[in-house]
Amino acid sequence: MARITLQNVRHSYLPHPEGDDDYALKEIDHSWEDGGAYALLGPSGCGKSTLLNIVSGLLTPSEGRIRFDDKEVTELPPDKRNIAQVFQFPVIYDTMTVYDNLAFPLRNRGRDEEIVKERVSAIAEMLEVTPMLNTRAANLSPDNKQKISMGRGLVRNDVNVVMFDEPLTVIDPHLKWKLRLKLKELHHRVNATMIYVTHDQTEALTFADQVVVMDLGVIVQIGTPVELFERPAHTFVGHFIGSPGMNILPCEIRDGGAFFHGQNVALEGPLTKAGNKTEIGVRPEYVVLAPTGLEGIVRRAVDIGRHIVIEVMVGDTRISVVSDGDLPEQGETVHLQFRQDQTRLYADGWLASKARS
Ligand code: ADP
Ligand code: MG
Repeated sequence: MARITLQNVRHSYLPHPEGDDDYALKEIDHSWEDGGAYALLGPSGCGKSTLLNIVSGLLTPSEGRIRFDDKEVTELPPDKRNIAQVFQFPVIYDTMTVYDNLAFPLRNRGRDEEIVKERVSAIAEMLEVTPMLNTRAANLSPDNKQKISMGRGLVRNDVNVVMFDEPLTVIDPHLKWKLRLKLKELHHRVNATMIYVTHDQTEALTFADQVVVMDLGVIVQIGTPVELFERPAHTFVGHFIGSPGMNILPCEIRDGGAFFHGQNVALEGPLTKAGNKTEIGVRPEYVVLAPTGLEGIVRRAVDIGRHIVIEVMVGDTRISVVSDGDLPEQGETVHLQFRQDQTRLYADGWLASKARS
């Protein structure tokens, strides 16, 4: 196991990149701590697989360096990096049994058959595939094939990092939930650094201690699930995480205060920077219907079981409210208040207010 450091990494798939837009990864300066459980979260096309393949060595970055502990590995091929990678679709040998598939990465490294047996049994037990050990892989369901593929990634206990690139894509929804928890448990047991790539916030937030959020080839925020929810560093994170996402309201800054629809909105604390475009960010969970406050009209209200979600229009701006109260009528006039300590300012997308101490 090792600490993995990416230093000023940039990557373009073009032979002669020019502007920033030509780079799939714009500038990555980041360390993955030894033994951590990380998720790499972002929409399709934001550069997650590119970043992962640079760590694994499938791809050499156009610029920058990669180190495992103090050792430079930038030019090393994948088989010299001592890593395991699990892909979106199962990579297994159909003609071999499940046992032989799981044993392969160990035998490939010349491990004793005794150790092979011990490790394969342990992994099979964890993944609940022990009864299938003598089955030929070709006869497995797609779910089970992917489980074995994951087992192959986890069977060695001497790897620097185990990487998963959207591994649950082919898995049935009801099994997804189970496998996700299983992986988390496995992380505790095998104690390896794990990097889990996904575009699904639920997957990222349940698996990881630290979530790395990417957009357009850039890391926009690294934090615990709670930090990402409570204090998004960028409006992208506010919007991408949470359901519904954070309300982002265009505002005007006057006399040090933020004005939305002509009304002063109390922020969590002082502004930390200025910008051309300023917006107020407040999560639907922290907006309440009140007797007074910002006036709006209910466009839609949906009961989603544990609570209700109300969409209120204030002029052209839609504000979502998560509430435990009664379902209001469509077209009804309501008043909104924002919880002050959860009302933030964003300048050109980035967090620009500071909590009052
Ligand atoms: P993600 O895994 O987040 O969906 P990728 O890392 O696969 O994103 O892709 C990032 C960007 O790089 C996308 O714009 C994608 O079209 C481009 N890209 C990915 N792989 C290649 C490739 N082999 N050749 C050219 N462009 C690529
Ligand atoms: Mg990908």
